[in-house]
Amino acid sequence: MSSDSSSGVPLLYIYHPFEDRVPSAMPKIRSTGTPLGELKRTGDYQHVRISDTTYRVAELDDPYRQYCQCYVRLAKDRCILIDTGCGLGDLRGYIDEHINTEKLPYMVICTHAHFDHVAGNHTFEDVGVCFAGADPEWTMKVIGFKMRTLDNETLDVIKPFRVSRWLQDGELIALDGSEPAKPEASLHVRWTPGHSPDSVSLYDPQEHRLYVGDFLYPYASWDDPLSPPGGLWASFQGSDLPTYVDSLKKVQAFLAELKSKHGTEVTLACGHNSYKEDSSLVDSALQLILDVQAGKLPYTPHEVFELKMWEYISAVDPRAGLLLPADGHAPY
Ligand SMILES: [Zn+2]
Repeated sequence: MSSDSSSGVPLLYIYHPFEDRVPSAMPKIRSTGTPLGELKRTGDYQHVRISDTTYRVAELDDPYRQYCQCYVRLAKDRCILIDTGCGLGDLRGYIDEHINTEKLPYMVICTHAHFDHVAGNHTFEDVGVCFAGADPEWTMKVIGFKMRTLDNETLDVIKPFRVSRWLQDGELIALDGSEPAKPEASLHVRWTPGHSPDSVSLYDPQEHRLYVGDFLYPYASWDDPLSPPGGLWASFQGSDLPTYVDSLKKVQAFLAELKSKHGTEVTLACGHNSYKEDSSLVDSALQLILDVQAGKLPYTPHEVFELKMWEYISAVDPRAGLLLPADGHAPY
């Protein structure tokens, strides 16, 4: 294995395989800061500027093999952070130094309560964290569980944090907090349960981007050390396949309406593996689950942390994969 000469970190863990999707010819919009599309790697994090106002931040050398994709949206008068990863470094300090250099006040939103999306929350104690209010009791239970132990192997502890707000389905989060929320200048909150009861997606109409957390992301090989294994996990306590189908249909209809009314093509900013996934993944994931429910697809057995799971992969779209519990749900 080769090494990065400057840090001694194995190269294998520096470049995410999905980074090759970063276009190299995108224009530089501002003279300062990170040029569009350029991968910056500093300390425990790396970031990519994916638009004039939006950044993807990811942890490096993640021992939990999650490589959660966090997003920073610089709005007019606030810095909106979506997910905080596994808490492997000083995320807030990193964003302060490299992205939120104008020191805008923070708003932090977690797409759901799984550990790999919330463990950096503790550094935002002063502002608190927003979750979907679909099932606050479940969310608080999971947060409490993870605060005691991250997993049975390491007994790592997630530091406490404060939930400041429960987001409602259909709510608008103004991108300019000094104005009343307008649909064209707000993040649109969409509850999308299925992976977890509290999964939420956020639509940015100015950038035609839908942040989907773990509700949707493309399949990655089990041999890929830089991605969580396999496809969509519907294998946790709180996962529910019929609910997943309902959410996918809801998002499918939402995207179809945007396209028919405005010709808008939406990009998916996923919680893992891709920050600019073609929204046709919604259709493929929905069809995959419907085929699984109809018993049309074979499965491959897998085992993770002594949990037996069945994996299904779409016959027509290799991006769509699904993991179901073979003998009981994984604990969160
Ligand atoms: Zn998750």
